[in-house]
Amino acid sequence: MTRLAGVIGYPVAHSLSPAFQTAAFRASGLDVRYELWETAPESLAGRIVSLRDPKYLGANVTIPHKQAVIPLLDELGGQSSRVGAVNTIVNRSGRLFGFNTDGQGFVLAMRNEAHADPSDRSILLLGAGGAARGIAFALAEAKAGRIGIWNRTSARAERLAADVAGAGALATPVPALSDLSPYDVIVNCTSVGMEGSGTESSAPCDISTARPGTLIADIVYAPAETSLLRQAREAGLPVLPGLPMLIYQGALSFELWTGVPAPVEVMFEAARKALAERHAGGAAR
Ligand code: NAP
Repeated sequence: MTRLAGVIGYPVAHSLSPAFQTAAFRASGLDVRYELWETAPESLAGRIVSLRDPKYLGANVTIPHKQAVIPLLDELGGQSSRVGAVNTIVNRSGRLFGFNTDGQGFVLAMRNEAHADPSDRSILLLGAGGAARGIAFALAEAKAGRIGIWNRTSARAERLAADVAGAGALATPVPALSDLSPYDVIVNCTSVGMEGSGTESSAPCDISTARPGTLIADIVYAPAETSLLRQAREAGLPVLPGLPMLIYQGALSFELWTGVPAPVEVMFEAARKALAERHAGGAAR
C-alpha cells in the first residue's frame, strides 16, 4: 500500500517540502507519496482526524496551524509542549503524536553546516515568534551559554526569555540592538528580509557593532541571501543561511515518520533545484 504524508498549511502552495521529502522517500526506497494539503482553519479538525487512517504516515504543519493543531492531537513529544507549537505529526496505530523539529533543525544546521556548536556560546535571537521559540528551547537543550532575545514587540521577548529561563537556561530579554559585540552568534528569526513580505531590502539590525568572527544566521530561506546575510558577507563575517534549517527540520520529521536515517544530501539537492526552478519561473512571468 502506498502510504501518504503531506504538509498542512494555508496557503501552502509555496512549500518546498514536497520537493525534498519526495526525493528522500524515493532515495530511501519507501513507497510514500508526499502531498500539499491546503487546509483552511475551519477544515483543520477534519484534516487531522483523517490522519488516523493507517494509510497516513503523518504530516508536517506550517503557518497558520502550528498552535491550533495541539488540542487535536493525542500526545506531544520532545519540546513541543514547551514551545507551544507542532510542525510534525506522526500517526502511530491511529494515535497522533505531535513534535516540533524546527529548533533542533536549526541546531543541526549550526553544527553541520556552520561547524559551530551552541554550547557555552552567547547567542542573540532576533524575534520571539513560533520559530524563535523552537530555536530558543533547542539552544537551551544544547547548553548555550547565554541566550539574549530581542523582539519588535518587547513583551513577547520578555515572555520567551522567562519561559526559557524556566527551562534552566540563562536567557534574558534584550531591549536594544545598539551593541552586538557581546554575541558569538546572531540569529534572525523574524520574517524581515523574506521574499513577498515587503521587507526584502531591510535587515532586522545593523551588524556594524558585531565583533569579527560573529556567526550571522538567518532562518529566512527565500531569498537565499537576505539583506542581513549580504551585509554580513560584505563585512567578512561567517554566515548561515535558512535553507539548512529547513532541510534538517524536514530530515528530523522524515526520521520520526520512518525510523530510517534521512538522506540529507539528496534533500538539499532537491530543495536547491526546486528553488532554482521557482526563480526561473518567476523570471519568465
Ligand atoms: P511568526 O510566529 O509570525 O513570528 C514573526 C516574527 O517576526 C515575530 O517576532 C515578529 O515580531 C517579527 N516581525 C515581523 N515583521 C517584522 C518587522 N517588520 N520588523 C521586526 N520584526 C518583525 O513567524 P515564525 O513562524 O516565527 O517565522 C518567522 C520567519 O522564519 C518566517 O520568515 C519563516 O518563513 C521563517 N522560518 C524558517 C524556517 C526554516 O526552516 N528555515 C522555519 C520556520 C520559520 P512581533 O512579535 O513584534 O510581531
